[in-house]
Amino acid sequence: MKIIEATDLWTQAVERLSLEIGEENSELWLKPVEAMSLEGGVLLLKVPNKFFSDGIKERYQKRLLAILRDVSSSDIGIDFRVERDLTRVLPPSDPVPEASPQSDFALSDLNPRYTFESFVIGESNRLARATAESIAKSPGTQYNPYVIYGGVGLGKTHIMHAIGNAMRRQHPKARVLYTTSEQFVNEYIGAVQNNALEAFRARYRSLDCLLIDDIQFLIAKERSEQEFFHTFNALFDSRKQIVVSSDRSPKEMSPLEQRLISRLEWGFIADIKPPDLETRIAILRKKAEIEHFSVPDDVILYVASSVKTNVRSLEGSLIRLKAFQSMTGAPLSVDDARDILKDTITVDDSNPVRIETIQRLVALKYSVDTKDLKGHQRTASITLPRQVSMYLSCVMTDQSSTDIGRAFGGKDHSTVLHARKKIEKKVEEDPFFLELINKLQADIKAAER
Ligand code: ADP
Ligand code: MG
Repeated sequence: MKIIEATDLWTQAVERLSLEIGEENSELWLKPVEAMSLEGGVLLLKVPNKFFSDGIKERYQKRLLAILRDVSSSDIGIDFRVERDLTRVLPPSDPVPEASPQSDFALSDLNPRYTFESFVIGESNRLARATAESIAKSPGTQYNPYVIYGGVGLGKTHIMHAIGNAMRRQHPKARVLYTTSEQFVNEYIGAVQNNALEAFRARYRSLDCLLIDDIQFLIAKERSEQEFFHTFNALFDSRKQIVVSSDRSPKEMSPLEQRLISRLEWGFIADIKPPDLETRIAILRKKAEIEHFSVPDDVILYVASSVKTNVRSLEGSLIRLKAFQSMTGAPLSVDDARDILKDTITVDDSNPVRIETIQRLVALKYSVDTKDLKGHQRTASITLPRQVSMYLSCVMTDQSSTDIGRAFGGKDHSTVLHARKKIEKKVEEDPFFLELINKLQADIKAAER
């Protein structure tokens, strides 16, 4: 083995690899890396953050190992050390500008209604919100990048705007940009087409705070994703704040999404869960107050206990009640509310549906015995309701086809899937049958309430 220094080895390897991957990639991925030591056949590389080690491993590890082997005529492994603690404890190198002459940052497309004041705190969002507030106070320091997870309609966008609004209030000259990843992708594509990549980059890299919503849209858009990480790195390295949201939890993500998020994960993560009853009540009260709409407590309670999935549907319900009330002028009662919201609540209801309930109501509808549904008799008058109830069990419960088969007297899961297909087809072909199925679904949901 040739005696060779870590730095030499790395420099040679970079030269070789650059020829293969091109100047731009080399600038992005390899230039920020520093060789620290070569011990026991392992080349230790210092990287500014995990984004680099992941990116290099994913893209170039194989080639790199081959090149290292070639250059040194021996087997060399590589290992990474992330030097990020340093950047995290240091104050921002370039503090948020307080008095630069440029006043309004035209890009910041913030909704003034989405503030911390209008955001109701509950157990489901306490951490996410508290973190957001401290970010608005001192961006780019402790919680960077900040990732917010949570299902649809739970307040992620609201919080991101609130960060932006509060930051602009506390740091009037700060350059804050809220955008969605979709917008980012479109702008990037536009910039590439118009040869305006420089301007695009300059604009994004001049920010003090980048709020980028619904990051999942970047997935599988290789070039845009890479551009995002360029931006991300540039901002992160100059200690600017980055906030990202995603509407899926890591568990629910595809491997590609997980990969994307794992690169941000070493920042700070908070998730927003669906609000509990208490919080739902508080949100409804707050919204009613903002809308100058007086709603009796029993109606608030009714809505809060019926609409459980997300805050957006809560708001939607309130708007419908308000529209109704401004038409009639009379005070709202719970009965009115039940009537006005009956469709919403049927759709929105998140009570679990049980297979027994489905069997009971289908049997009732077709005047058969639930025992028959679980039996093996093959006359048409039994097969149809059996298939209907299997179909409904598939679409209305979260049970697997195996579990459903079991609940139907130990039938095979393929029988269940066959039933499902059969009924799906019939529903498509026959509007009367569709209506019957819809009616059954509504009855089943009502029975579970
Ligand atoms: P997401 O981005 O998570 O899909 P949004 O931020 O768009 O959800 O929220 C949907 C609606 O619900 C918005 O109008 C928002 O103001 C409202 N909302 C969500 N959570 C809260 C909360 N805790 N307090 C007040 N309003 C909320
Ligand atoms: Mg949103």
